[in-house]
Amino acid sequence: RLLSLPQMLDQTVRQHGDRTAVQFYETEISYRKLQDLSRLAAGAFRRLGVKKGDRIGLMLPNCPQYVVAFYGILRCGAIVVQVNPMYTKREIEFVLQDSGADVLIVFGDLYSRFKKTNLFSRLRKVVVVKPDESVFPGLAQNTVSWDNLLAGTSFMADDEPIDPERDVAVFQYTGGTTGRSKGAMLTHFNLVTNVLQLNDHSRGNSLTETDRILIAIPLFHIYGMTCAMNLGILNGSTIILLSRFEPLEVLQTIKKYRPTCFPGVPTMYVALNSYPKAEQYGIDSIRICNSGSAPIPVELIQSFEKKTGASMYEGYGLSEASPTTHNTPRTGQKKPGSVGIPLPGTEARIVDLKTGTETLPIGEAGELVIRGPQVMKGYWNMPEETKQAIRDGWLFTGNIARMDQDGFFYIVDRKKDLIIASGYNIYPREIEEVLYTHPAVMEAAVVGVTDPYRGETVKAFIVLKPEAQVTGKEIEQFCRRNLAPFKVPKQIEFRKSLPKTAVGKILRRVLAEEEKKRNG
Ligand code: ATP
Repeated sequence: RLLSLPQMLDQTVRQHGDRTAVQFYETEISYRKLQDLSRLAAGAFRRLGVKKGDRIGLMLPNCPQYVVAFYGILRCGAIVVQVNPMYTKREIEFVLQDSGADVLIVFGDLYSRFKKTNLFSRLRKVVVVKPDESVFPGLAQNTVSWDNLLAGTSFMADDEPIDPERDVAVFQYTGGTTGRSKGAMLTHFNLVTNVLQLNDHSRGNSLTETDRILIAIPLFHIYGMTCAMNLGILNGSTIILLSRFEPLEVLQTIKKYRPTCFPGVPTMYVALNSYPKAEQYGIDSIRICNSGSAPIPVELIQSFEKKTGASMYEGYGLSEASPTTHNTPRTGQKKPGSVGIPLPGTEARIVDLKTGTETLPIGEAGELVIRGPQVMKGYWNMPEETKQAIRDGWLFTGNIARMDQDGFFYIVDRKKDLIIASGYNIYPREIEEVLYTHPAVMEAAVVGVTDPYRGETVKAFIVLKPEAQVTGKEIEQFCRRNLAPFKVPKQIEFRKSLPKTAVGKILRRVLAEEEKKRNG
């Protein structure tokens, strides 16, 4: 039987109702309480007039209200529109207008930040979670606080009937790492299937009701929503929420709550790895570390595993696939630099970059295409883009990859980030991997910059480890020893930090744009 997301939660409540579902600092919410609260929220949304198919904006950092509102919206048959709280006014406006959401659930300090603008005035209802005292009594007419909304409501006894295969649960706007954001429509079936696939893939070593997952990755991003929150809920595990990633706070939380699972992104592992005496915080309670959402340097996996004793698994995916399509196998060999094998029920092929049709021989790099039950219904309101992205049932990922003779996949790079210098194809990631092996380098990003002779040339941006000292010349010589001459960065710039997305992906696009501006 196909389940909707709320039915998945209800199933866990039947088995593990008394276990802690959410831990947020000193607050603990059991599975039964989470079910009650989400039914109460659903009742409140219904009273606001929310109907099946309506889109509701959810703009919250990680907090219990996020989980309650998420499931409450779905119980009404409405659609969660994930809104990144770090967006600027222009970006928020785009998502709200594009999705047609007329109710927004927003965190207090974000509400205060945008209160004086006209951002909220067009909305039918704004629900403010933890409003700052100073905004009372000045709440506008269309605004209500979360606590008041829930206080005056009764439970919604029965969920709106949902057809898991047809009904959309979430609009996940793509990260915008490479360009304009698009709303991927993910059905209940897509999202429930992806967590079942993750469990199936890790059979024998999957999460259980005794696991505790430390979630410092944002839930408003697909990785956190599926691979941390929903995966935890499916298995009756406890999800420990942090509203942001701050290395010391993460380490102190590890010490206090002894989590067994830590889903992270590469930049988090960089920060933890270079944190002095991190191992003294009892990181060894963690048995499973997942990395996803961006490439993780091989060097980093090895040093992190050595330091903590945990096993690191790398996943690959994208918003359009709910998100996971590949993961490191739990048994047998682990191959450094590989994102593993396709999840059960997922087909993956490497096709010719230009034609997009012929399947390439083993070992050759081409575009990675995916077919499986986790692939989105399409982009909201973008039929042309949907046709481009899904052709004959195959999702074109925009990533260049190759597959080896054992069926392991290697992400080479994003198609859009490919550098073409003097006719040579250069993959920035390969150069970054080399830079990461240099002992002084903490973070690196490589982009193509315009060059009058070569068309493009390679530029590296580097953040050094604390107290490390090295010159650009030394880095260049190091690259020369490890890379063919045409791949060696011609320009090297040291920075204190690199621009990143809300999940911590390094934004090569921003660096490239800065270069363009600088060079006129
Ligand atoms: P946009 O599509 O709007 O430019 P985005 O690509 O960052 O933004 P997401 O859906 O958040 O949107 O991220 C998916 C992308 O993240 C993938 O296409 C891939 O490039 C990258 N990615 C995810 N996991 C990995 C991984 N393990 N290794 C390499 N790249 C990864």
